[in-house]
Amino acid sequence: MADLLIKSKLPRVGTTIFTVMSSLAAEVGAVNLGQGFPDFPMSEELEDLVTQAMKDGYNQYTHMNGFPALREVLAEKIQDLYGRVVNPDTQITVTPGGTYAIYTALTSMLQPGDEVIVFEPAYDSYIPNIEINGAVAVRIDLKFPDYHIDWEEVKKRITPKTRMILLNTPHNPTGSILGPKDIQQLRELTAGTDILIHSDEVYEHLIFDGAEHCSILRYPDLLERSFVSFSFGKVYHCTGWKLGYSVAAPALMQEFRKVHQFNCFSSHTPSQVALARFLKNKDSYLSLGGFLQKKRDYFASFMAGSRFTPLPSYGSYFQLYKYDRISDEAEKDFAIRITKEYGVASIPVSAFYQSGKDDRVVRFCFAKKEETLQKAAERLAKI
Ligand code: PMP
Ligand code: GLN
Repeated sequence: MADLLIKSKLPRVGTTIFTVMSSLAAEVGAVNLGQGFPDFPMSEELEDLVTQAMKDGYNQYTHMNGFPALREVLAEKIQDLYGRVVNPDTQITVTPGGTYAIYTALTSMLQPGDEVIVFEPAYDSYIPNIEINGAVAVRIDLKFPDYHIDWEEVKKRITPKTRMILLNTPHNPTGSILGPKDIQQLRELTAGTDILIHSDEVYEHLIFDGAEHCSILRYPDLLERSFVSFSFGKVYHCTGWKLGYSVAAPALMQEFRKVHQFNCFSSHTPSQVALARFLKNKDSYLSLGGFLQKKRDYFASFMAGSRFTPLPSYGSYFQLYKYDRISDEAEKDFAIRITKEYGVASIPVSAFYQSGKDDRVVRFCFAKKEETLQKAAERLAKI
């Protein structure tokens, strides 16, 4: 066949680091603390509720915006946790995963040439999501080593073309969180402008040491210009379900749904029916922070016997560790080598920077059984 002309819409994009590291871990039989997913079972009760929903006949398309009873229970949860009344008919849409919710929010809003402020290290889908829409990523580094936002720099990088600011709290990959001072800065910078916000809050419950999650949903003046994305996979230890939701002001959600209805139309019905029932038990999500905090601390206590140096993790299910006492290798080379030689997979943080910025830190996922964490830490202590 003659050479077929293919003009890539994402010419600079390769295979995501999560797939690269998980494939390598599987190939060499390493403990996989790379890609973020739990290795412990999800709730049996929730599994049973899905089976029950199927047996009850919930096997056809549900409403394109999401199973109504699930949206109602989500609105109640938002009111309870964040004191905000949102309308489940006009402000919540259930999606096949948080990643999809982010993509749809950006695609429904961005026009070619729009500028989007994105903080790096950034979750790896953000910049491709901006660029596939012809918009331009304005990258700002979070400040090492605590990965805070320098709001003075943000102010300087805002131009008449700035259309959106992307936030992520608790943050992947660094485990940093936004505080009330960040929110105040955001308010001051966006008030009176047309700048939109996308806030990725898939780790809303994974927040530690008594800190409060500063959800955009708490602040009505910010919510009116925002999309907020969530993931059931992260909350209920079922990342393979690929189910999430978006919350936004009605005018924004209307545009979101125009894109959503022609992309997947509706999301998996039986799991939504099950979640509508399961979410009535508030402990199912309120207990999560304490549960994961114990895992973070358990892993850290084992890692204390290694030459890795932890950076603080305030939330998410990740912790960054510096390895400058061990090696001067670039992060990706180091991560690949220790997967092969010591049998523990991690994620090089440089994969979350377009520039490949390399601070000699790798990300470990601690959402694992204690025995997995112990085994990994014992191997890492040998390096
Ligand atoms: N945002 C961040 C920061 C994440 O870590 C993840 C998890 N992969 C997602 C979004 C997407 O979640 P989901 O698996 O529901 O698409
Ligand atoms: N969110 C997960 C992580 O950061 C992985 C998601 C994915 O594989 N796309 O590890």
